[in-house]
Amino acid sequence: MNQIKIGAFISERRKAKGWTQSQLAEKLEITDKAVSKWETGRSMPDLSLFIPLCTLLEVTLNELFAGECIAEEKLKEKADEVLMDVITNWLGHDKWESKESGTTLQNVLEVENVSKLYENVSVGHETENNSVLAVNDVSFQIPRGSFVGIMGASGSGKTTLLNLIATIDKPTNGAVRISGQNIVDMPDEAAAEFRRRHLGFVFQEYNLLETLTIYENIALALTIKEVSKESIRPTIQSLSEKLDISAILDKFPYEVSGGQRQRCACARAIVVNPDIILADEPTGALDSHAARQLLDTFAMLCREFSVTILMVTHDVVAASSCDRILFMKDGEIKAALNREQESKQTFFADILKKIEWIEGESHDVFEVVNP
Ligand code: ADP
Ligand code: MG
Repeated sequence: MNQIKIGAFISERRKAKGWTQSQLAEKLEITDKAVSKWETGRSMPDLSLFIPLCTLLEVTLNELFAGECIAEEKLKEKADEVLMDVITNWLGHDKWESKESGTTLQNVLEVENVSKLYENVSVGHETENNSVLAVNDVSFQIPRGSFVGIMGASGSGKTTLLNLIATIDKPTNGAVRISGQNIVDMPDEAAAEFRRRHLGFVFQEYNLLETLTIYENIALALTIKEVSKESIRPTIQSLSEKLDISAILDKFPYEVSGGQRQRCACARAIVVNPDIILADEPTGALDSHAARQLLDTFAMLCREFSVTILMVTHDVVAASSCDRILFMKDGEIKAALNREQESKQTFFADILKKIEWIEGESHDVFEVVNP
């Protein structure tokens, strides 16, 4: 793998598009410096940027790795060569092994046989010894760019599950992998660092810091991630336009509406380019108009920026914006629904039917679920 050759290729393709380094940087929402470093062969783009970079430059991944355009007749031969190169020189042997053992690059999140037992408590669905199995042997995967909802009645284990994925709580059993990394055995300090770098949060009452302006709230997230000073303002500005909050950047959180606050929380969550955004009842405190705007924002982020979102909600309207719903009851995932090509309205009706079926008592055999 020839980093200098790849850099020269990026530079050539960028110029062919008529873009400056800053223009390319802006499109990728990264610093100018990063682009300059790639082009002079001093560094390689981050893994998460390969696909958007290839899309922008109109090259294939193979071509990017090879550092040249590949003629169709040489595709097979070149592809193998490039793949070997990537494996041996770049991904490193360790990483490659962990990918082969079940992790595909596509899945941002993999939850495998996860359970959480709270011991010695006297509430909820009790077992004999006063403990609560809040999450019971749950497995599912979430591919990059999808918008997945978790539904279930109060007490069904949604928040517990989300906290396990958020590294806030530890499962009693099972594995949780985010971008291939098992987060379950991480010491607390590493977990905190992991949260900052890889996760974004949007909660119902997500506390933006009241003494900072909206702009400063978003900038704080970038500063924590050690993003260069020069790139903070352009990054926030371009994102704010997309989220329609440019006009309120200099206001304080208490000066703006609930919906605007939530879109700011969104901006703060995605500005650091997290692997996944975790949202717990994010529309819970919003009026229906603001809720709809937030959901449209989520859907846009997934569609246009391949952001991955996992949202807990008990609101069927909110859920019908998702691509996929997992239904929880008594700590288990009892069913899953995919939106496919349906309209929101049809999906809404399907979700209602599914909830009725899950909560109903007329069935004693559960559908075989393969989430
Ligand atoms: P949901 O978010 O779906 O309402 P939770 O995940 O909050 O459900 O709760 C699932 C079950 O676990 C409930 O029975 C709840 O009482 C219990 N539970 C949640 N958190 C704790 C905790 N920290 N200690 C003991 N039991 C808990
Ligand atoms: Mg909850």
